[in-house]
Amino acid sequence: MSAEETTGNAVCVYCASGPVDQRYLALAAEVGTGIAKRGWTLVSGGGRVSMMGEVARATRAGGARTVGVIPRALVDREVADDDADELLVVDTMRERKGLMDAHASAFLTLPGGIGTCEELFEVWTSRYIGMHDKPVVILDPDDHYRGMLEWVRGLVADGFASQRSLDSLVVVTDVESALDACAVPAR
Ligand code: AMP
Repeated sequence: MSAEETTGNAVCVYCASGPVDQRYLALAAEVGTGIAKRGWTLVSGGGRVSMMGEVARATRAGGARTVGVIPRALVDREVADDDADELLVVDTMRERKGLMDAHASAFLTLPGGIGTCEELFEVWTSRYIGMHDKPVVILDPDDHYRGMLEWVRGLVADGFASQRSLDSLVVVTDVESALDACAVPAR
């Protein structure tokens, strides 16, 4: 396993491993193209399937670097992204998330399923309790996360979650705003 240091803006993108709907694939590709245009690095789950594959392909097509982190057990299921500039094959899901975190300067969540939500909630909760200060951003052009966000607002209203936790999350509807929100000074 290599652990090349990632410097500068490196966006960890969490997104779906299932849908092949053109609308979602196009959104993922637009994000990859945007990352490349800014000369940033993509950090991904290291699969070629669905939106995960699309964002990585578009990033490379734009001439930028991709780092993929995939558990050995998912190499076949998610079709490991052998074209990644750096493909880190790990033993566990926890190691995957740990390495994705370590390589990332910001976290961007696109539409996804429960795996994507799991990844989002970990970086979101760890940000609001002060474990890191990297931007946590949701790009949601089609209200995919409306129900989840309404539920969290209800948690705030009922005292189960703080307004500060909601405020630590950036929710936007277009790619440029999402990348603007991810931009951090070079580390
Ligand atoms: P999904 O949103 O369910 O399509 O999943 C998106 C990605 O999240 C897939 O690559 C899953 O393998 C990944 N994933 C699901 N659960 C976890 C986890 N606990 N840690 C790391 N990655 C996960």
